[in-house]
Amino acid sequence: MKRIHQILFAFLFIIQIHGQVTNENKARIIILATGGTIAGSGESSTKSAYTAGKIPIDNLLNAVPEMYKYADIKGEQIAQIGSQDMNIETWLKLSNRINQIFENNEADGVVVTHGTDTQEETAYFLSLTINSKKPVVLVGAMRPATAMSQDGNKNLLDAVMVASSPESKEIGVVTAMNEEIFAARDVTKTITTSIATFQSRNFGPIGLIYDGKVSYYYKTLRNPAKKFNIKGLKTLPLVEIVYGYADAKPSAIIAAQKDRAAGIVYAGMGNGNFNATVGKALESASKDGIIICRSSRTGGGRVTLYNEVDDKALGFIVADDLNPQKARILLMLALTETKDKIKIQDMFFNY
Ligand code: ASP
Repeated sequence: MKRIHQILFAFLFIIQIHGQVTNENKARIIILATGGTIAGSGESSTKSAYTAGKIPIDNLLNAVPEMYKYADIKGEQIAQIGSQDMNIETWLKLSNRINQIFENNEADGVVVTHGTDTQEETAYFLSLTINSKKPVVLVGAMRPATAMSQDGNKNLLDAVMVASSPESKEIGVVTAMNEEIFAARDVTKTITTSIATFQSRNFGPIGLIYDGKVSYYYKTLRNPAKKFNIKGLKTLPLVEIVYGYADAKPSAIIAAQKDRAAGIVYAGMGNGNFNATVGKALESASKDGIIICRSSRTGGGRVTLYNEVDDKALGFIVADDLNPQKARILLMLALTETKDKIKIQDMFFNY
């Protein structure tokens, strides 16, 4: 009997030691929840109607117990909104909290649950303002948590795997969804309802997640070491986006001027083109001190200097390959540091 006790004791001791060892080896991940369809709830599992940002963080965590195999996890609720309501105040709060987490060494990686509508904007904002190379993985879902074949649980598990993978140690801010990893700078939502909505139109995914394994193939070189300092900021300079189309009128540009915008991102046709009327309004806004940044509504490629437009004469800058919504973010942040167009243009060619 005594012998059996000894064997049992030794067995329990080994299990405990093993548990401690694996615990020690597990990455510490903090999940910051902001809402979105991943926390969405609907009346029916087969109909599309639902409300985003209903389900709190604890319920999201409880729904995916598998992720505790990969990491020690804590959750925090930062916001509970559909990402169409994302705003500068929440961006600042989120970025400050993530900087604090890394400064205090509270975690090895962060996962941010977020709606998909503006996820690309939040990801790019974070990539320009977080002073750490540690992984920050944004994740969402296209189907609400109550839907049949919902994609949120699997996406969340994958995001935790990405954030805790040794391969991700210096990856910085990425999105992980539908088994694909994208650089924050390049990812964009391309389809209104498909679970394969996130794409990088110019460069593709940088990595893949499959069968519990995270594999990287590329890294972006556009990830500057020097980040914008947002500590203490309450808001950002006003930058508006004006859309280009056939026979467009200048009213949106005049309105932005009246609102004292510091910058206008023009989402132009083709290589950032505009008609003569819009061109005159943009030129007048530029003379008024507003930074005019030409981007493209096409969704792919770059906008190049001095093509059909004489940027030098007009005093315009270009967005390079950033889409209009991301160009707005870089311009807002750039304007917190300088109004010098040469310096800002340089940022667009390097960030
Ligand atoms: N409107 C939702 C949101 O962005 C859509 C989604 O999450 O997929 O919060």
